[in-house]
Amino acid sequence: MIALAPTLPGVVDSHCHLQGLEPDEREAALDRARARGVVGFLVPATKLEEADTILALCDRHADVWCALGVHPHEASSWRDGHATRLAALLEHPKAVAVGECGLDFHYDFAPREQQERALREQWELALHLDLPVVVHNRQSEDAMLALLAEPRFAALRADFHSFSGGAVMAKQLLARGNSWLGISGMVTFKKADNVREPLAFTPADRLLVETDTPYLAPVPYRGKPNEPAFVVEVGLRLAAELGWEPAALVAQTTANFHRLFVADSASPATNGAASRAGAGRNVEERR
Ligand SMILES: [Zn+2]
Repeated sequence: MIALAPTLPGVVDSHCHLQGLEPDEREAALDRARARGVVGFLVPATKLEEADTILALCDRHADVWCALGVHPHEASSWRDGHATRLAALLEHPKAVAVGECGLDFHYDFAPREQQERALREQWELALHLDLPVVVHNRQSEDAMLALLAEPRFAALRADFHSFSGGAVMAKQLLARGNSWLGISGMVTFKKADNVREPLAFTPADRLLVETDTPYLAPVPYRGKPNEPAFVVEVGLRLAAELGWEPAALVAQTTANFHRLFVADSASPATNGAASRAGAGRNVEERR
């Protein structure tokens, strides 16, 4: 007997690296997700060279948006002039955020000064363009909080994606306002109190759900490549943790997604947008 996979109509996957799937898998993965009720996808770049691939997906699919930027793992590639190049790419109407950007002192794939420089320049650009940012943070909490505390970044709207920083970090991020926590498949992992504890005090309008495809597949798919369809498992588990009905979780997180990412840029009715539009992996890891 085959158990039918559950659905979660209206949910969005706020962080899926579709470009991390094999090219012939991307469309199929979108279709499998839609079949389970997923109605929106935000695809974050990890380097500028991915922009063409990602923007082509956005052009082909009404329900796909993207963030463009440079991941801390790729920060060594950040050069003078990249902010200008990135700004030009962000003129695409479906490029709704800067990212994925951040700090990763766990891997230190790029020197820390270089990570910080790339991050600062991307945040400055996001503020200049009035776009939110998608932030990766791993074992770099102090440096991240120090940067966020600079007055120039007070207005920066940030999705701390695949958040696993624990209650203390979450409180500090939420206290600044302008912060959202992206809840990934880690919420289903046994040893993920760092993900679950902040749920007790995170305001409902600050929660997002995501897969971080192709990394971090939730239970019961752990160890397999992740895909956007599995945001259903993330959402169902998050609803259970919060004691909410699944439909309420969907309504809230989808509204949050639109408020943060899409409303201002894809809808011609709101202003920021109109003016701007004119203008061999380890699947248990995350990016
Ligand atoms: Zn990512």
